[in-house]
Amino acid sequence: MKEQIYTIPVNEVYDIDCECPLCELEKKLERETLDYTLGAAMMEPDFRIESNEKGFCNHHYSMLFDMSNKLALSLVLDTHLEEIRNKLQKLTKSAKAAENSKGGLFKKSSAAADFASELSSSISKLDSSCIVCEKINKTMERYADVLLYMWANDSVFKEKFEKSKGLCLKHAKLLCDNALKSLNSGRAGEFLSYMYTKEMSELERIQEDIHKFTLKFDYRNKDMEWGTAKDAPIRTIEKISGYIKNDYESEN
Ligand SMILES: [Zn+2]
Ligand SMILES: [Zn+2]
Repeated sequence: MKEQIYTIPVNEVYDIDCECPLCELEKKLERETLDYTLGAAMMEPDFRIESNEKGFCNHHYSMLFDMSNKLALSLVLDTHLEEIRNKLQKLTKSAKAAENSKGGLFKKSSAAADFASELSSSISKLDSSCIVCEKINKTMERYADVLLYMWANDSVFKEKFEKSKGLCLKHAKLLCDNALKSLNSGRAGEFLSYMYTKEMSELERIQEDIHKFTLKFDYRNKDMEWGTAKDAPIRTIEKISGYIKNDYESEN
């Protein structure tokens, strides 16, 4: 049996009535990782080294900024900024060369071109890493593996999966990418085909709701029953692109 530390959370989110239980799991994991980042991790040298090196994406900076611990955030920012400046410092020579490069108006100067591409790639490297995203993605892969194992070996869970409202597209892709790693090809084929059929019918259900929502704006339909369409816009977004990540404050 797979470790309970992973099976329990997967089972728990499958008790929630939602558009994607894996989004619920990811939301919880995201909150825990952010709390850890400005909490216990402050005393973990390994984590601090990694966060100094990698930094955070814009979305996770926004969430960290919304949290109350501004001192911890400032300490993290202070050391990460130092790291950024050290990396950019290495380009001083190229900057000088670019400044002195001679070239006519229509002649491309190679020192300038070299510096432009060096500076651009250094900035995009700084910009593209996020320790929170990395930790979340790694753990979600683990959860995907456990979910697939449970689907194949635990009939109670399999039934929960069948009764759920499917997954968002991102997490359908996660299971798709992991199916052949976690299951033998026969079971993987069975799972993928089942998930595909289920997903197609869940997308059809959502489409009916969002379409109905648009019809309610026509005065001739003002007495039409909402049915399940009342919160269709948010659920459609959740289905297409996962949960909207702006609820850190409201849920804490
Ligand atoms: Zn999801
Ligand atoms: Zn991130």
